[in-house]
Amino acid sequence: MTTLPRRALAAVAVLASLAACGNPQASTTSPSTTTTSSSSAANVAEPSLVQTLGQTPPSAPPPPSSSVAAPPPASAAGKVVVIDPGHNGGNASHPAEINKQVPAGRGQTKPCNTTGTATNAGYTEHEFTWDVSVRVRDALVAKGVKVVMTRSNDTGVGPCVNERADVGNKANAAAVVSIHADGSTSPGAHGFHVAYSSPPLNAAQGEPSAKLAKVLRDGLQAAGFATSTYIGSQGLSPRNDLGGLNLSTRPAVLVECGNMRNAAEAAVLSSAAGRQKYADAITQAILSYLG
Ligand code: ZN
Repeated sequence: MTTLPRRALAAVAVLASLAACGNPQASTTSPSTTTTSSSSAANVAEPSLVQTLGQTPPSAPPPPSSSVAAPPPASAAGKVVVIDPGHNGGNASHPAEINKQVPAGRGQTKPCNTTGTATNAGYTEHEFTWDVSVRVRDALVAKGVKVVMTRSNDTGVGPCVNERADVGNKANAAAVVSIHADGSTSPGAHGFHVAYSSPPLNAAQGEPSAKLAKVLRDGLQAAGFATSTYIGSQGLSPRNDLGGLNLSTRPAVLVECGNMRNAAEAAVLSSAAGRQKYADAITQAILSYLG
């Protein structure tokens, strides 16, 4: 995401090209759940068809005596988490669909979605968000968490921000995490920040969302990621202009993992090892929150 002035500029300047990461959640295909398989396979299911993996931990054969109890399930097991990979691969080639106005909360409308940003070398934000989201999804599913993704591949269009919010609401998610990366061209601007709706419009946007934001901030910091030098304070950014957060009735946050236009951060965001590190930190934070 970006600051308001930058978002405004981006909206004026570039609709069809790569815009800054202004619109937190996006795309047009209908929201669908993830599958438990690993990659970009387009396994489209209805949001209600949450699939899980690994609910049954690999276990030894039953003990000879019936007195040995199974280990208690992790507290996160069985809970529903919605992972929202920002933007989508087909957004740039579908400007009419992506620019149509949709409800964004607080009486406002915003474009359905944006293209997202990219590194100077051309690695796109939608690729980044999809890759990290799949890593997080698979790790959570392995812990017995039911994961719903707001898009099922990285080649579609949309869904719109309001549709993405609906996914979390309809799934009655225990936590909703939108994953993004920013595109500030300010020299040296770097670091992550976690946005949450403020002032809250419902109970879930209050303490639960603020807590989720703090847990995620703490997890990323513990993993060695620096907080933003240019947005928010201490890695947290209360916002009233993000449609996906405004429209959520579940605890919801949006993380901008780093600045894709900053050379040092772009190198991390563009590498598989870097994305795994983000995914590990996000996964652990979600599990901590659920626990
Ligand atoms: Zn974005």
